[in-house]
Amino acid sequence: MKRTLFNEDHNIFRASARKFVETQIVPFHAEWEKQGQVPRSLWRAAGEAGFLCCTVPEEYGGPGADFLYSAIFCEEVARVGASGPAFHLHSEIVAPYLIHYGTEEQKKYWLPKMVSGEVISAVAMTEPGAGSDLQNIKTTALPEGEDFVINGQKVFISNGQLADLVVLACKTDPGAAGKGVSLVLVEGDRAGFERGRNLEKVGYKAQDTSELFFNDVRVPKTNLLGVEGKGFYQLMQQLAQERLVIAIRSATCIEAALDWTVKYTMERKAFGKSVSDFQNTRFKLAEIKSQAVMIRSFVDACLAAHLKGDLDSNTAAMAKLQSTEILCQVLDECVQLHGGYGYMWEYPITRAWADNRMTRIAGGSSEIMKQIISKELISEYS
Ligand SMILES: Cc1cc2nc3c(=O)[nH]c(=O)nc-3n(C[C@H](O)[C@H](O)[C@H](O)COP(=O)(O)OP(=O)(O)OC[C@H]3O[C@@H](n4cnc5c(N)ncnc54)[C@H](O)[C@@H]3O)c2cc1C
Repeated sequence: MKRTLFNEDHNIFRASARKFVETQIVPFHAEWEKQGQVPRSLWRAAGEAGFLCCTVPEEYGGPGADFLYSAIFCEEVARVGASGPAFHLHSEIVAPYLIHYGTEEQKKYWLPKMVSGEVISAVAMTEPGAGSDLQNIKTTALPEGEDFVINGQKVFISNGQLADLVVLACKTDPGAAGKGVSLVLVEGDRAGFERGRNLEKVGYKAQDTSELFFNDVRVPKTNLLGVEGKGFYQLMQQLAQERLVIAIRSATCIEAALDWTVKYTMERKAFGKSVSDFQNTRFKLAEIKSQAVMIRSFVDACLAAHLKGDLDSNTAAMAKLQSTEILCQVLDECVQLHGGYGYMWEYPITRAWADNRMTRIAGGSSEIMKQIISKELISEYS
């Protein structure tokens, strides 16, 4: 189905994003996987080319573009299976926290640097003892004079090694559950802030993912992001866009997997014919094509709603749930159709299969999405 959301300017932007990804990322990605992270110079290059933080308003150094530009860049990075650079996290998840909850001073200081790629950001919510159950986090930021003193530990933090700025979810009132959570900005060079090892993952090998340790880290109270005790609410308010971004990336990855697999099965010979000549292959490809079109249509509908400010977090949860579940099914089928080569790291389908398993876990697991969707469904009947 023809996509109708984009105008000529968007198409021009897509062409330059595609060129950037193909020249600045694709040739180097395998090497970055060995190094366990992407170089800072890539972030600067992406910033200089205008691909970071597309929706940041001009007064804070951004292009002030609509969210479709963000979506396009997410799609172009996902299309080639470049899981290393966590641009989407920085641009579409962290920057919006600052835009929506930052003071004028925080926005003027951080956003231009995030747009240029001089500052790389992370969001640290998950702890060894609390992931889905965010209200139960144990990291504290307790007031002492003009400062907060932070103690605790985070885990699985994307951009953990590279981050210059961490949006930290912590308890300013340890006795309270959700109402005790606040967001605090922690600069990467604060005394007492330490990065653990770069975690060895099944996929996303070029993306640095780390433990973070906070030992009596002192930050001024002016580092509070938004309202004290409203951190959990602030996190929830931004979830629709976060889930939509995951769905956009997943929809693109399904299309890419189909493309790689059609080409491979047409070239690969068995029993004197192409693998694509077997009815089983054709039927599988037909199923995947239908899934790709259905997911894309729904995700584009969510994108259109989001542009109008109408995307609710429940619908976004449906997009996240279905796009990631179907993506993982599709990738598994596509690996199968590649035979033994589908198990070799040098093939993009193999990397995508390993990379995307996490999409059903991170950003709110599938089970949490189902909880959210079912809660609203049942309440409609109660
Ligand atoms: C590669 C990667 C990158 C990540 N990046 C970040 C990051 O940048 N920042 C960050 O803060 N976190 C990040 N995470 C963490 C991620 O968000 C968590 O792993 C996720 O929220 C799940 O939490 P958990 O691992 O503690 O699992 P748990 O919460 O312990 O869940 C274990 C299982 O129990 C299920 N479960 C939990 N609660 C319920 C329930 N109420 N009902 C039914 N089932 C339930 C879950 O769905 C899951 O299947 C990342 C994770 C990965 C793998």
